[in-house]
Amino acid sequence: MGIFSPYARARKRGTAIMSTSTRNEEAASTAPATPARPSNFVRDIVLDDLKTNKYQGRVHTRFPPEPNGYLHIGHAKSICLNFGLAAEFGGKTNLRFDDTNPEKEEQEYVDSIIADARWLGADWGDRMFYASDYFDQLHAWAVQLIKAGKAYVDDLSADEVRKYRGSLTEPGKESPYRNRPVEENLDLFERMRKGEFPDGSRTLRAKIDMASPNLNMRDPVMYRILHASHHRTGDKWCIYPMYDFAHGQSDSLEQITHSVCTLEFEDHRPLYNWFIQQLGIFPSQQIEFDRLNLTYTLLSKRKLLQLVQDGRVRGWDDPRMPTISGIRRRGYTPEAVRNFCAAIGVSKTNGIIDLAMLEHFVREDLNKRALRAMTVLRPLKVVIDNYPEGRSEELELVNNPEDASAGTRQVPFSRVLYIEQDDFREDPPKKFFRLSPGQEVRLRGGYFITCKSVVKNDAGEIVEVHCTYDPETRSGNAPDNRKVKATIHWVLAEHAIDAEVRIYENLFSKEDPGDVPEGQEFTANLNPNSLEIISHAKLEPSLANAKPGDRYQFERLGYFCVDPDSKPGALVFNRTVPLRDTWAKIEKREKGN
Ligand code: ATP
Ligand code: MG
Repeated sequence: MGIFSPYARARKRGTAIMSTSTRNEEAASTAPATPARPSNFVRDIVLDDLKTNKYQGRVHTRFPPEPNGYLHIGHAKSICLNFGLAAEFGGKTNLRFDDTNPEKEEQEYVDSIIADARWLGADWGDRMFYASDYFDQLHAWAVQLIKAGKAYVDDLSADEVRKYRGSLTEPGKESPYRNRPVEENLDLFERMRKGEFPDGSRTLRAKIDMASPNLNMRDPVMYRILHASHHRTGDKWCIYPMYDFAHGQSDSLEQITHSVCTLEFEDHRPLYNWFIQQLGIFPSQQIEFDRLNLTYTLLSKRKLLQLVQDGRVRGWDDPRMPTISGIRRRGYTPEAVRNFCAAIGVSKTNGIIDLAMLEHFVREDLNKRALRAMTVLRPLKVVIDNYPEGRSEELELVNNPEDASAGTRQVPFSRVLYIEQDDFREDPPKKFFRLSPGQEVRLRGGYFITCKSVVKNDAGEIVEVHCTYDPETRSGNAPDNRKVKATIHWVLAEHAIDAEVRIYENLFSKEDPGDVPEGQEFTANLNPNSLEIISHAKLEPSLANAKPGDRYQFERLGYFCVDPDSKPGALVFNRTVPLRDTWAKIEKREKGN
């Protein structure tokens, strides 16, 4: 079973977790009452086909990104499904770039897609293909269809083609060029290829049925004229196949058995099947599943590109972006993303998944692997008056309570510390158990301290808190068994390392970022507070050698990872997720119902 398999994990948990908003029949059927292997309808089809020996026991899937942007978390769902199915049944998965639109496609995107899919754990062996590899074959097939009287060159403009197409309630109208003789079509198509006509002046269309209730079947365009350089074929072509004329045949050429794609292609399936039938080629079977939608998140390459181009974010890999490169930079792990994809399952109706659920899986995974460290984001100086000047000692702290093999570390302790401003109140509200005048608290990893007084500046702000410590409480407990109600984290002032910490909130403030009043754009919903930069956080000295990509739990604050902007002596951390797990709360509430 491969790393994408949802089953090992779901068995372990005994149940699949679903967001309420996506609960529907399909989803419910993936949540077994017993630890039986959960399935989904796509997997059931594959199982059936294996039973009936439909493809001689073969399972061959593909992941077909268009290289017109970076991969996002929605693509991760598709990758996990496609590679997971093949892996489970000893099959194969191809990576195929659907590069039929030279105006929007670039090598940068190809490179990023390869890196991001690999990071997720996808392994396509030597099976990396491009639709552009098939341009010659597709052209030959177009000629074949013309010869069979199944395709014609149309002189209508794009606008006219649209008008003639009709609507859902009205049948389309046949183009006056529809019944050109085969010879004329062949001649015109050849001259299109040679570059004799300007962009948009002619198209090659399939001759199907202008009255079909399915608009995709109303003589769809197969080829268009486009004098544009292609990132791989250069200037060889000035006509390019439409996606709909390339996709199904690419699947067929690669002998794909199960062509798994998102629901919006359901209406295109009859067209793909029509081409396959007319050409008499290998019939790949298309199966549609629901796109991933996440609250507070946009999963559209076009819109993500706009954010990048308009400088709304720092780039495709901005840690606030839902791109794979963004979440990687933010500190998400591939394991967490795969576990999330396994848990959401697939269904035949679109829903919306709570972003909190994704964050839950990130926390769950990081909890197991991230080393703990103490850092203070907004420092407040604490002086321990009865700790002898000039003395210091080391306290032993556990590196990861979830993983004994991670061991312990020594953290220096002395008279002057930093604590979090939030952990002190001069006038504590009821139930504020952290430090306040007269209140005793435990310092993480050691002593109890009691606040005795504060020092304020001219503006009346507290700049120092004076405490005493109880030397008998080094172990974290008092010999007389007296209790404290809070344990707070701290960093020794003398050895503290200064660092920049970037705190991220949701990129959009609305649950549905697309929900805007008329005349406004989705950018109106951008959260102005999605990035906060803390320039002088204080870190414990063990973090001095942290390298980009290293992940930590900053005690009581959340999970953080080192940003690639980080340099020795000028560390930069990203907050991956805070500790508070709203999803776990939602789950608990639901279970209680
Ligand atoms: P976008 O709308 O973001 O531009 P796309 O569908 O045009 O996405 P492709 O590069 O064509 O992007 O996608 C490659 C594969 O990933 C397709 O099979 C597509 O169905 C799938 N995919 C894209 N977005 C999602 C999503 N949100 N959830 C699941 N699968 C997705
Ligand atoms: Mg697409």
